[in-house]
Parts: sequence; C-alpha cells; structure tokens
Amino acid sequence: MLHILVINAGSSSLKYQFFNMDNREVLAKGICERIGAGGHMRHSVAGKVVLEKDTDMPDHSVAVENVLAALTDADYGVISDMSMVDAVGHRVLHGGQKFSGSMVVNDAVLAAIEECIPLGPLHNPANLMGIRACQKVMPGVPQVAVFETAFHQTMPEQSYLYAIPYEYYEKYGIRKYGFHGTSHRYVSARCAELYGKPAEELKIITCHLGNGSSVAAVKGGKCFDTSMGLTPLDGLVMGTRCGSIDPAVVGFISEQTGASASDVVTMLNKESGLLAVSGISGDYRDVSAADEAGNHRAHIAREMLFQSIKRYIGGYAAEMGGVDALVFTAGIGENNDYLRQRVADGLEFMGISVDPAKNAGRGEDREISAEGARVRTFVISTDEELMIAMDTEELTSK
Ligand code: ADP
Repeated sequence: MLHILVINAGSSSLKYQFFNMDNREVLAKGICERIGAGGHMRHSVAGKVVLEKDTDMPDHSVAVENVLAALTDADYGVISDMSMVDAVGHRVLHGGQKFSGSMVVNDAVLAAIEECIPLGPLHNPANLMGIRACQKVMPGVPQVAVFETAFHQTMPEQSYLYAIPYEYYEKYGIRKYGFHGTSHRYVSARCAELYGKPAEELKIITCHLGNGSSVAAVKGGKCFDTSMGLTPLDGLVMGTRCGSIDPAVVGFISEQTGASASDVVTMLNKESGLLAVSGISGDYRDVSAADEAGNHRAHIAREMLFQSIKRYIGGYAAEMGGVDALVFTAGIGENNDYLRQRVADGLEFMGISVDPAKNAGRGEDREISAEGARVRTFVISTDEELMIAMDTEELTSK
C-alpha cells in the first residue's frame, strides 16, 4: 500500500491530508493552527473529528511531529508506524519561470523556491518552512513540490507579457504567472475524461470560483491564458479583491489620500471586491442572501461578478478560436446553480446553454448542458490535494 501525505503550509498554519494511493482514499486530514503563537490542532478520520487539542507548537517542525503522532496514534491513528509514510507532497505558491511542473525536492529546488520569494512574499517562505520541517522530522522520505503557477507556464508570450518596457520583465520577472494551476489542471483533465475525448483535441474554459477566483483557457491540454497575473489580484471580481481595474487607480488614490502605493494595493486585495461593492461581506453566500432580500449594492456586486466571468468566457473563446467545454469549479462554481445559470444566460449565441434541471442543486461531477448545446458545460469538484498526491506518487515511483 502506498501512503502519501499532502501538506499545505501557511505562515502560522499547516493543513494536511493523508492518502492511501491504492484507492485514492483520504484516510485522515486536519489542520494545525496558531503555530508560533500557542498551537491548536484538529485531526479527523473518515470525516469525523477524532482529536482536537491545544498544544504548544513553537514551529512547523513541531506541527509535523504532531501530525505524525496523530497518524500513528494507537487509538485513532490510521497507520502503525511513521515509516509507512512513503512520500510527502507540498503545495507551493510560486515557482516563477523556473518550474513548469512538479519537482522532487533537492537543494537546487529549495534554492529556486527561495529565489521566488519576492514573487510570493507571503506564501513561499511558509511553504519552505513546511518542506524543511518534513525533511527534519522524516529524513529520507522523498518530498515533492507542486507549484500553483506551474500549469500556466505553457502560456505563449502574447498571453503572459505585459505591454510595459521590456526591461521590467527581464530585470524583475514582471509578467503574468497565473495561480490555481493545480485546480485548472485537475478539472480540465477531468473534463476531457467526462467529455470522452483526449484533452489534446479540446478547447476548454475552466472557471475556478472561490474566495479567490480565476479563469483559464486550456487549449489542447495546455494553459493558453489565465485571468490572474503577476499576483492573484488581477482578473475576476473576487471576495475581497478588485480584479482587473485601470492601474492608474493606484497612483490616483495614492495622490488623493497620501496612502503609499503598497497600502493602496493592500486595500485592493483585502477591502475590495464583493465586500466593497455590497458593503456587507466578501462571502458570496452572504452577498446572495442580501441580494435576495432586496439590497441594491449586494445585487450590483453579484451582477458585476457574473459579468466579469462572462467577459473572460467570451474573451477566451475568441482567443482560442472557439470553445468545446466550459467548467465550473470551487466553492461558488460547484455549489451555486444560480450563478452558473446567470453566467450561461445570454451566451446561447456562442453555443453555451444550461439545462435548468441538470444544473439544479449540488452533487456529483456532471454535465449540465442543454440538449443540443454546441459547447458542453460541466460542474466538476476540484481536488487539488489529490492532484498533489498523484504528482507525488508519479515523481517518487520513478
Ligand atoms: P477558497 O478560495 O478559500 O478555497 P472556496 O473554494 O472554499 O474558497 O470558496 C469559498 C466561496 O464559496 C465563498 O464565497 C462561499 O460563499 C462560497 N460557497 C461555499 N458554499 C456555497 C454554497 N453552498 N452556495 C453558494 N456559495 C458557496
């Protein structure tokens, strides 16, 4: 039996899932929080919380020790010995231009992740802490890094370059990188499976709609364009992020208010999007409830979201010279039939049409297109952790 641990390390948290790769089952999962400032851990087996405790976790290594102790616990563990952890897969935010795929961790890979810190200043240092903690606690167990940016490295220059002086690209690596790559890769591959054709023959538009949201144009199984940019601020209207706006807004606000450029960018990341327009919340469910209760700003916030998604669908279909399939995924995309219907409404001219009965509610991965629609529309549950585990299995079994 092959067991893989998947780790998503944040600056003060560490989320994990433990897979039996023979049947791809999640045997256990959990989260360590408040690392470095106390420590709290929640561990569940088969969907049920079996352990919840406050325990001192001064650093990520102690958090990893706690995870291994939980996995091997005599009462509620799922393996008898930590030597049964065959490999560890790590989610890493930014691989810059260095990585177009997942990598077995070695010194050179660690150094490259470190070099990408300016591009992912909040996440890469935490991701590195997670990797180093596992190396320390589980010496000899192979570690794999899976990058959120990697899938988008196939974008052609006309998609990824910004029309600013070339030296900014050469000197500072300023270009579009894109994010949610693991999710776009997973759902586009799954879409091809459900479609019944090889991904190489398909043009797919994938809409990952969660707290952070992005759209990708996947042509022949490769990313052709995506809506997030140098950072995850660009593109769609999101929970608290503004998405694409006129970049002159930054300088203008800065001049008017005296706030620094970086303060303005923080405002655009944390105080904008659905939250700002609705004045209520950045959570789509809260905004929906307020809209349904007649709140005008909540209504406009949702309309802006729907319109921004349509804009990318239309744009990416045009860029790819057509579209065969449209995919909705992540928290909002998987769960909200109203959003899917509203996005599809009016796109009949390009062959997109959703069947209300198939679209209704939540559930399994499925096709929701109306009979005879030229573009097939799917709802697919994203599973980034499974994708990380699969990459880890593939790279470490070689
Ligand atoms: P993250 O980007 O943090 O991974 P998720 O993919 O979990 O986020 O998506 C979170 C978003 O999904 C929130 O805006 C939330 O309101 C929305 N969401 C979650 N469940 C539902 C639901 N049943 N109906 C509508 N929206 C939902």
